[in-house]
Amino acid sequence: MSEFAFELELCAALEARGDGIVARQLGASVANPGGRVVDVVVVDPTAAIDRRAALTPSGIPDAILGAEVGPGRWTPVRDAFDCHPDRAQRAVERGVDIGVLERERRDGRDCIRQVARYPDWVDRIVGIENKPDLGRPGDLEAQLRTDVSLALVDEVILATESHVTGAHRNRLPDAVGIWRVHRRTGDAGRPRLPEIEVIRDPDALPVEARGVEPLSFEPGRTDISIVSPAEKADARRRLAERAYGKGWRTFGFPGCGACSARDPGRDGDGHEDGLPSLPHCQYEDRLVDAASECGPSCPGFDPASEPAVDLAGERDARTPWNADPERTRRRQSGLDRFG
Ligand code: SF4
Repeated sequence: MSEFAFELELCAALEARGDGIVARQLGASVANPGGRVVDVVVVDPTAAIDRRAALTPSGIPDAILGAEVGPGRWTPVRDAFDCHPDRAQRAVERGVDIGVLERERRDGRDCIRQVARYPDWVDRIVGIENKPDLGRPGDLEAQLRTDVSLALVDEVILATESHVTGAHRNRLPDAVGIWRVHRRTGDAGRPRLPEIEVIRDPDALPVEARGVEPLSFEPGRTDISIVSPAEKADARRRLAERAYGKGWRTFGFPGCGACSARDPGRDGDGHEDGLPSLPHCQYEDRLVDAASECGPSCPGFDPASEPAVDLAGERDARTPWNADPERTRRRQSGLDRFG
């Protein structure tokens, strides 16, 4: 099974069991940005998730969250940011655009304030590494060792379809949990949400302590960076915000008659098994990645219009994420008046 299809079905299963904010393919390193990308991130929210959801459906840039600006008083832009003025300007424009900052000229100065206080909405972050086939492990061991020694997330889990042997377990850090994911087939050969069998529970990682981030592995030598608790706290906030803004529905549907969106509102099958709209190809009999697999060069390609699917609406209905909070609506209607 392709890692892409495995990942989408796992995300759908986690969402269906109410596991908070589920997102995929997010950077989870600190000293070496982009050095480690985690397949699936699950953010367990606190009760403050409603206040976070009321702010904006987008991820809030870290420059804004780290700025010296609150909701109560207007702060000059040049006093609010500890970064290059160009970056500060971009952050302000983005903050106004997504509805979390207000901007006015006051006493001849360019000033901003937050529309509401940023809530403490992140309880626990779980990182999941997908490896459907343990016979082709790639960098799995090094990736999991990095996650455990950095301890940016509270728990790390390996998800696989393979039978997990004692030899597999022994090669993994003890703190890593192991899930065996059982795919299931429903009516007409269509997949249903997979079952997750817990083979081993993860240990809680020391997210509030210093972390060690391996930067490069050479024979007989590993370069590392020590990451402070404050750096980790900032990185966790960035990770959670990216997860909130991005989610896991970062896929498209091909304009091909062989692809069925399995839209619950359209064909009704999703209501029975809770399966959301996913790009299922009848020719390949599996989920497909439209961006990399579909097009005229595919032998099964049958030109058609893309299925009409409301991915944002599905995410809104099934998770704490709010596609259209009142605050954003108010701001948009205000903009319309001046448009
Ligand atoms: S282009 Fe090929 S892989 Fe993509 S949906 Fe059509 S038949 Fe399936």
